[in-house]
Amino acid sequence: MAFDPKGVPFVLTAPDTESTEQEFSPWKQMVYASVPARFAPRFMYKDKFDQPRYPDGSAKVIPYGVRVVEEILLNHYSRDDVVVCYPDDLDKFVGPKTVAVGVGAHNPIGTAFSTGVYSNIFGSTARPINAAESERIYLHPAIQRHRPKVIVGGAGAWQIAKTGSTTRLGVSCVINGRAEGMALELFQKAEAGEELPKFVQAPEPGIEQLVIPKKRSTYGVIEMNRGCGRQCAFCSPTLETRISVSPEQLAEAVRSNTSNGGRIIFPVSEDIFMYGAAAPFYIPNADKILSLYESIANVPGVDYLPLSHATIAPAVVNPHLMKEMSKILLPKSALRNRFSTHSDKRFLAPLIGIETGSPRLAALTMSGKSLPFDIHDWQEIVVEGIRILNENNWFPVCTFIVGLAEETEDDLRQTLDLLHRLKKYKILYVPSIFTPLEDTRMSGAKALKAKALTQLQWEFVMTAWKQSRDFGEMSDRSRVYFRWGTKVFYHARGRWVHGKQFKWPAMRFAGDPEEELSKHLYLNWDKDSDAKIQKPRLIPKHRKMKLEDLARINDNQPFNIYGTSRDTEADKSNPLKVLSATTTAANGQAGAAAATTATTASGSVNGAASKELDQPVAGD
Ligand code: SF4
Repeated sequence: MAFDPKGVPFVLTAPDTESTEQEFSPWKQMVYASVPARFAPRFMYKDKFDQPRYPDGSAKVIPYGVRVVEEILLNHYSRDDVVVCYPDDLDKFVGPKTVAVGVGAHNPIGTAFSTGVYSNIFGSTARPINAAESERIYLHPAIQRHRPKVIVGGAGAWQIAKTGSTTRLGVSCVINGRAEGMALELFQKAEAGEELPKFVQAPEPGIEQLVIPKKRSTYGVIEMNRGCGRQCAFCSPTLETRISVSPEQLAEAVRSNTSNGGRIIFPVSEDIFMYGAAAPFYIPNADKILSLYESIANVPGVDYLPLSHATIAPAVVNPHLMKEMSKILLPKSALRNRFSTHSDKRFLAPLIGIETGSPRLAALTMSGKSLPFDIHDWQEIVVEGIRILNENNWFPVCTFIVGLAEETEDDLRQTLDLLHRLKKYKILYVPSIFTPLEDTRMSGAKALKAKALTQLQWEFVMTAWKQSRDFGEMSDRSRVYFRWGTKVFYHARGRWVHGKQFKWPAMRFAGDPEEELSKHLYLNWDKDSDAKIQKPRLIPKHRKMKLEDLARINDNQPFNIYGTSRDTEADKSNPLKVLSATTTAANGQAGAAAATTATTASGSVNGAASKELDQPVAGD
């Protein structure tokens, strides 16, 4: 179709950095959210943004949230009135007739967790590429010339309001939260010429407002479930109602992508193991998870099927589920690493929030993350969970947060101890510095700035980066570049920006001998860790029960699956089907491992006296 050359009334767009499907690896986008724009001139990466267009010039690949708004508008306006385009095409679609431009924003200013430490390591004014690309939209000549209303939504829209950037960027309205229930009203107000509120807190949409886009989204994102409820204090999705999207709706979303040329489907979630699972114990619903992934993998045209966010405890709850998922997902992974035992060296990389190695700090800030296990056994859950994942060629991307409110030096030392215990495992670490996010219980807490990091905090960050670097494929030549690049950076800039506390941690990253470093740092990285993995205990309230019994209690809980209530046909006699099948059939190592994890452990971990903790259980 041909759009009016005088402009389309409603134009939707998003930064190129958020639309690109570069190498079918969603984690590539993290690079754009981290690398400072001033160290990477645009010509170096611009070609990566070359995305397909429909014959009318509209965008074929755009973030999921923008597609949702497009669908909402198309339910009320004609196809001539709504277009989705790339920023470089704005001058084709924005004209005197344009009423409003909607912009999807994931990290428009560069103040998200991930960018805090990565771009700011170069200095506090280092704006990441993602933020520079966002600004190209707001300051685009077509928008400046015709002055339509600019409505911004998406996970990072709050950054614009919080940093006082609305006027500078010419933004008319910032929507905070999911826009399904608000978007139409705001675009209609713009059409009526009414003044828009500068900031709107969108109410949580109900299940009936769930919108399934009919076109392709970046990375084939489809929303498999939303909400969480594990109650981490620094997290906002936890406050949303838990919903698992029905298999029928997900099948429709998959078709929307494959019929428009998409080769990748990325089912996103706050925790994939929550799909079809119930509070209060978050025991994964193995059947629902396996049948969902299998049904997607079997759709013709789906070449890649990556994993989204996950929690670590489910790996310990049901190791066999990881094995079964690997059979479905490894052949559909775009990621390869020399450490993988898969015939094609493929691996899976879910993003898992570990956040801290201190059980004390974990109990204060994220006690629900360990369910159904006791948060006091956090280190054991993490080490055993990672062991199980690695065994199945899952090499997770693990986030850690330094600078959480209440963090002490002792907490940091325990986090470094955990890092040391994980030394032999395959993990990509993403350490970040604490940033209070809107709509979280910690929104009022103080943000940590990179230049305020202590030596211990730097030691954690630089050691984690060193581990990630060692895990990635790296030639001897690259190692030499990293070594000398780090030293040059430290002497030319790092020591002035971050102070002397940056020196020894930076030298560990550079690869100096541990013999020398251990005189100045907490860890001697070369020393072997002799801490054995202990069985994590179930939560204090149900300590005397077995995991199977908890699963049975779990099964009888009312909860939101497909937005209604639990499948009443669930087989209550066999609540941990996949796990039980292995235990009976294998009668060997896998079965023993399953049986071990299914048995309630007794005694305290690492000899630590464990205070009975009032660990919140969803639904309590
Ligand atoms: S586990 Fe914690 S951080 Fe992750 S989504 Fe749930 S509440 Fe948020």
